[in-house]
Amino acid sequence: MSTEEAWTINRLLTWTADYFKKQNIEQPRLEVEVLLGYALGCERIQLYTRFGEVVTDEQRAKFREFVKQRVQSMPVAYIVGKKEFYSLNFTVTRDTLIPRPETEHLVMAVLDAIKATPELAPHHVADVGTGSGIVAIAIAKHAKSSTVLAIDKSPAAVEIARQNAASLGVDARVKTCVGDLLSGIDPAEQFFAIAANLPYVSDSEFEQLDKTVKDFEPTSALVAGPIGTELIAKLIPQAAAQLVSGGLLALELSPMIADRVVDLVASDGNFEPAYVIKDLAGHKRIVAAKRK
Ligand code: GLN
Repeated sequence: MSTEEAWTINRLLTWTADYFKKQNIEQPRLEVEVLLGYALGCERIQLYTRFGEVVTDEQRAKFREFVKQRVQSMPVAYIVGKKEFYSLNFTVTRDTLIPRPETEHLVMAVLDAIKATPELAPHHVADVGTGSGIVAIAIAKHAKSSTVLAIDKSPAAVEIARQNAASLGVDARVKTCVGDLLSGIDPAEQFFAIAANLPYVSDSEFEQLDKTVKDFEPTSALVAGPIGTELIAKLIPQAAAQLVSGGLLALELSPMIADRVVDLVASDGNFEPAYVIKDLAGHKRIVAAKRK
């Protein structure tokens, strides 16, 4: 290709996807489309109707900056400040973990419990360690009978969760607050379900994480301590105290600690035997149990 050849959208996509591939980026084409859409101020999918269009120097300079950040391992979600979860569009910043598709199982566990008990409406739910608010907001969106308290110890994350609840139109039913697990919550506030995707990575596992995660996502949202179960272990008795009888505790975790968490729930003594939900990759991902 001659260098004088115009930089059409199609040519930029092809060239950059190839470059990303050489940089071992896992989904080169998808990521390039997201970044170019962002640089041009349009949806990724709209690029397909604009293949022949020549991009301006200004647009190309913007795009080049995003490409550079990605090659330096910055996740695309942080570059564009957005990530889709449960078919909803969330704002994310470096103060919040990037939503993972596995977390949809946590949302589904709570939604199933809500749908199975219409007679218990309104369903009051807590999302502990809410981050960008995805779990709380997806539950509120899909269960109109729910009210959700979204808690995080990071004030910056709580602010993002609050903004997401407002922009997704559920701020009337999603309240946000800064707090350390459930320790600051009024003991009289009883929940139908408590969902938590708490930090569960151990110190040594953290060292093994990919650069895109380790160097960019908030360490405090990932790492629990030397063994990984620290925060979950702290939450279990707190949850027992705040759940109604028959209420659901649903915890997201890594397959490495799933069996240990099942044992922790059993040894607490206040729950029915826990059950495990696997993610689409077949990994143990959620441990859930009902309050006796
Ligand atoms: N609940 C949020 C999520 O699932 C944040 C989780 C976290 O920061 N550990 O993305």
